[in-house]
Amino acid sequence: MASADAGGSGYVGRGRLLYNAIFCAAMEPPMNFGSNENGAGVRAFRERLLAWYNANARDLPWRARPNATKKRDPYRVWVSEIMLQQTRVSAVIEHYHEFLRRFPTVQKLAKAREASVLAAWSGLGYYRRARMLHAAAKVVVRERDGEFPTTAAGWRELPGIGRYTAAAIASIAFDEAAAVVDGNVERVLQRTAGERMAAKDLWRAAEELLDRTRPGDFNQAMMELGAMVCTPRAPACLKCPVVELCATRGEMKSASKLPRQKKREIDYALDVRDGAVFLVQRAGDARLMAGMWELPEITPGAQAPSRKDEWIAALKRRATQKRTQEQIPPAHSPRARLRVGRNDKANGGSQNGKMNGRNPQGPLLTLRHSITVTDYTVRVWRRPAPKGAIGEWISVEKLTKLPLTGLTRKILRGANMAETTATGPSPVVSEKCLSDTTPSPSSSRNGPHSSKMDNNTEGQ
Ligand code: SF4
Repeated sequence: MASADAGGSGYVGRGRLLYNAIFCAAMEPPMNFGSNENGAGVRAFRERLLAWYNANARDLPWRARPNATKKRDPYRVWVSEIMLQQTRVSAVIEHYHEFLRRFPTVQKLAKAREASVLAAWSGLGYYRRARMLHAAAKVVVRERDGEFPTTAAGWRELPGIGRYTAAAIASIAFDEAAAVVDGNVERVLQRTAGERMAAKDLWRAAEELLDRTRPGDFNQAMMELGAMVCTPRAPACLKCPVVELCATRGEMKSASKLPRQKKREIDYALDVRDGAVFLVQRAGDARLMAGMWELPEITPGAQAPSRKDEWIAALKRRATQKRTQEQIPPAHSPRARLRVGRNDKANGGSQNGKMNGRNPQGPLLTLRHSITVTDYTVRVWRRPAPKGAIGEWISVEKLTKLPLTGLTRKILRGANMAETTATGPSPVVSEKCLSDTTPSPSSSRNGPHSSKMDNNTEGQ
């Protein structure tokens, strides 16, 4: 890690040049930062940013108040940082409390079944994060006797922890002087410098600027500024504490356009009988959402199987499939209050999607959903699962314990199967977050505080 003194003059190289650029080029007029040689510009940046953060930091459940002497529990900081990758703060807040209720300590998390961890993660997307969190918890318990590393270097030895996450946890929970660069910090750095920078230059610049006396607060202040003021679109420069130090004072010209969203349509069968819903499980080695449960996909217009076909298929399935705890043949399932049928009559919408009340031939529900660069129009048809679909009847009461894909949870909520949502997320929060693919380091489309990145390990 590059060293820099409190005055910000210790860095020699590209980072140093960058901040000479910031504080010389950008500061005249109105302010003369030509005195940058003694670090005055860097010091001014730190002071203004931290003063702004002291007064404006959002009160988030995983965050200590600025200047707090009591540091945050590293387990909570870690969980929040993993959840915040590529995910909106509002979505994380809903999942954070429930996740900690289920797994209040690293020991509890390490002991949990993977399916339980995925179920608690359902709706946050990028499920690889949950798997790695679980794997790292096991390492902490098994190899470190439950003790967390106290340095960024130590954190990086754990599964799923890259440079960003390690530095964020070490600085916030242990006050280590380790700078962070996520999408928000990247934007602030580039705009203040007035130029685009390669990743290594961004990290150097962040190290150069970092306040060594309050590194955790400083890192959070940089991210907060990017999330709340220096937003991707229409930055609020008039409210910015470092406006006088900024070379851009507005949006930079886009070097490359965001990839265009693709459009797709997809249809699912919702087959509900006697308090159980028919679901299929994605393959364990699937690239996306491996092992998660979802509704069977259907081809619209394809003829639904006859009752006789269904019975034969069901008998075959029962004969060949191992019965699991969740598998409940409809005839023996407990009564659950399913209101799907009743809502067929509702001619309006649900909060998750548009219910079809007028056309009995039409889909039960239509909604929109996005997975990385694809926007889906999702139609849900109340009909038997397609012939030959291999799945299981899952009692509605057990759905909350099952790792459902975010879209499936959203559909079931949209169909007013209220039991599935007891611990589930808000339907609108996870639309961009369903894939298990590598989070895009430069993406900030998901809104403020959603573009944290660990592009060296976490996406592999
Ligand atoms: S002045 Fe505007 S562009 Fe510059 S850092 Fe502040 S909000 Fe961002």
